[in-house]
Amino acid sequence: MRNRLPVFQRTESGEKGRTAKVRLYLLETGWVKVARALLHREDGFPLLPSAAVWLAREGDTVWIPVVAYLIVHDDDLVMVDTGLHEMCRTDPVGNIGHIMASIIRGFRVPPGTDSKSQIGRLGYAVEQVKYVIISHLHTDHASALEYFSLATILLGRGEWEAAQGLLRFQGGYNRRQFAFPYDFREVPQDPIAPVPPFDRGYDLFNDGTVVIVPTPGHTIGHQSIVVRLPSQMVLLAGDAVLTERSYRELSLPGFLPYKGRLRASLEAIRVFSELHPESLVIPGHDPEKWPALKKAPDHYE
Ligand SMILES: [Zn+2]
Repeated sequence: MRNRLPVFQRTESGEKGRTAKVRLYLLETGWVKVARALLHREDGFPLLPSAAVWLAREGDTVWIPVVAYLIVHDDDLVMVDTGLHEMCRTDPVGNIGHIMASIIRGFRVPPGTDSKSQIGRLGYAVEQVKYVIISHLHTDHASALEYFSLATILLGRGEWEAAQGLLRFQGGYNRRQFAFPYDFREVPQDPIAPVPPFDRGYDLFNDGTVVIVPTPGHTIGHQSIVVRLPSQMVLLAGDAVLTERSYRELSLPGFLPYKGRLRASLEAIRVFSELHPESLVIPGHDPEKWPALKKAPDHYE
């Protein structure tokens, strides 16, 4: 297994301002039950907030959505995260591993909700997906990576190395989900043409429509994606913000490996939402905001 990933270089020759036809589909792949304190540490025990992630009583749990996105850029298909593998319906521990199974208390994965089935119902095939941008490699985001064996998988700087670490189970990774010889690449961090207030980013098609921005903190290599649609900008925040409250109130989660970086990312996303008031910020796991959004086969464009 490689230790360091090759850096991605785009082959697209798009131009800024060129009008590609872009559609964004939101895929709901299931729901999982976790301690409320996983989302917001102030909902946990005052003295040892992270302990509540494991010790919370049934009344202090909440069901949260596990999501993925499909971007159709002219004829190119791009996934953002992969959602829950269909195996999570029958053998969730086999997919996410024992450590994460101690945090996730329940699964709701109805038949046909995995990303492969949903892409099929939209009239496409997973083999057509060209890029998979992974916000981070935690088990609920990399769960269905094996559907996308032909794609180039784009990871943030340092995420691959973190996920290979000896203490990987402490970080929420299950290496079996990504121990495949796929085309994994590290996303460059380009100082040119960022989306304010992010000071770095990577413009995937070189036309401003899909920009990957580093938002470290939840994990070391976490990244978010700005999709510029004709109607509005959409920030697919991943787990940089777990809920709307995370960035509006700068509320920290129970799982907190890199506190300073996460705070800076939350702050950047809050400023983004203020600089672009027409934009839509989609948090990683918001049980209240998510149901109000348009899901596939409906879409944003
Ligand atoms: Zn997550």
